[in-house]
Amino acid sequence: MFNRLRNWRVQRIVARRPIAEPLWRDALQRCAPTRRLGASDQATLRVLATLFLERKSLEPTQGLQLDDADRVLLATHACVPILKLGLDWYDGWHSVIVYPDAFIPRRPKVDAAGVVHQSDSLLAGEAWGRGPVILSWADVLNTGRKPGHNVVIHEMAHKLDMLNGDANGFPPLHRRMDRRVWTRVFSSAWDRLKDEQRNGLDLPMDPYALESPAEFFAVASEQFFEAPANLRQHLPDVYRQLEQFYRQHPF
Ligand SMILES: [Zn+2]
Repeated sequence: MFNRLRNWRVQRIVARRPIAEPLWRDALQRCAPTRRLGASDQATLRVLATLFLERKSLEPTQGLQLDDADRVLLATHACVPILKLGLDWYDGWHSVIVYPDAFIPRRPKVDAAGVVHQSDSLLAGEAWGRGPVILSWADVLNTGRKPGHNVVIHEMAHKLDMLNGDANGFPPLHRRMDRRVWTRVFSSAWDRLKDEQRNGLDLPMDPYALESPAEFFAVASEQFFEAPANLRQHLPDVYRQLEQFYRQHPF
């Protein structure tokens, strides 16, 4: 991975727009998943965050201002999932729109019966198929305050999921991974959590995971990076599949 980044173009970008040391230290401090990384992985993440800021357009809206430290923090969160995959996994889209706070999506939603609803629920984030990622900055700043939550990783997981079509909890798997095993592991974990929910038990992750297979994958991805010990303890098979997919071993 790092070798692939060592071409002249990358070096030029990184040399021209390096992330200043104090901003980088601040981002490491505020982005919990980075603290488990060794020095070489942190260095790779810093290069990826630099390139992310070069290639993507961060667009604060509704009067929100993002300073350099904010931008570096956002890019750092965003690059955690692709640390071992590469920035190519975020190809095909350009913008990250950032609202000051939770927002109501403006576009109408079409349900399974083809009925169009105007959504009235507040969202912390949203990812469109070939379009932008949309985030609430208040929720980005809340990352880590609620254990296991990370809205940036959540939306980026949807982006990875949508690389092979609709968001359905089935991202493009690597050659050595078994699609049947992935499906079996995620559906049996889903069934177990549904049962626990029906029985009024506390779930080991945000119950929003049970909205759909896509949300299950996104919430499990948040857990994998933000609270890996918890995920590994409660859903070890899901943890192992995510280890293979993200090629990282956070616990
Ligand atoms: Zn989601």
